[in-house]
Amino acid sequence: MVVFEHIRKRYGELDALLDINLEVKAGELAFITGHSGAGKSTLLRLLMGMEKATHGNLSVQGLNLGSLSARQLPHYRRSLGVVFQDHRLLDDRSVMDNVALPLEIKGFSHVDIKRRAQAALDKVGLLDKAQRFPQALSGGEQQRVGIARAVAHRPSLLLADEPTGNLDPALSRNIMSLFAQFGAIGVTCIIATHDIELVRASRLRRIALERGQLVQDLEAAREHTP
Ligand code: ADP
Ligand code: MG
Repeated sequence: MVVFEHIRKRYGELDALLDINLEVKAGELAFITGHSGAGKSTLLRLLMGMEKATHGNLSVQGLNLGSLSARQLPHYRRSLGVVFQDHRLLDDRSVMDNVALPLEIKGFSHVDIKRRAQAALDKVGLLDKAQRFPQALSGGEQQRVGIARAVAHRPSLLLADEPTGNLDPALSRNIMSLFAQFGAIGVTCIIATHDIELVRASRLRRIALERGQLVQDLEAAREHTP
């Protein structure tokens, strides 16, 4: 699904990523951990097609991101689901309209937009608040709307950069279990977080970066039958 081969990203004299080799399989959920400045956001920006690697090959579903044309790039980006730390909801639109907007832009029919937006809000447990405005929701609920918006078009790859950055531990666990549910239905999820404690308990795959280098790649713990 996602393959990094000898990926290097330089900013001037600094190697933000150095010789990253990594494969994430379809339907897998992987956390990218590491302190501030480790290279997590850089890795996600490469995957989002927002920047190109200085060296190496990066492919997503067989598509080589380094050689995407200017015409292919927007198409690729629209295929992704992306969640940020600050959810970037529009305050003058209802929750429902916030989730519907990207679907409108992608050209779905009215019937499809309504059905998909409702299904996504249902999945994050906010269907009953669809007509509210973002300001009337708690921080955790706003972040869940951001997730509903990211998954409404049913992306096969979901990327999240510090999705729990502004939330307390209980809400953070709630958000992470939501990602785990998407993983369970076959969506590949790559989630960057500096909150090691949060992911340590999860038994899911975690990949640690340190000053641009991949220093640990722990596989998900397998459930074993007695
Ligand atoms: P993280 O998300 O793990 O905190 P980043 O990927 O944001 O780390 O940053 C990794 C390193 O690359 C840091 O040293 C950061 O200062 C540097 N960096 C990130 N983006 C840029 C940029 N656009 N220009 C120059 N340096 C950058
Ligand atoms: Mg970051």
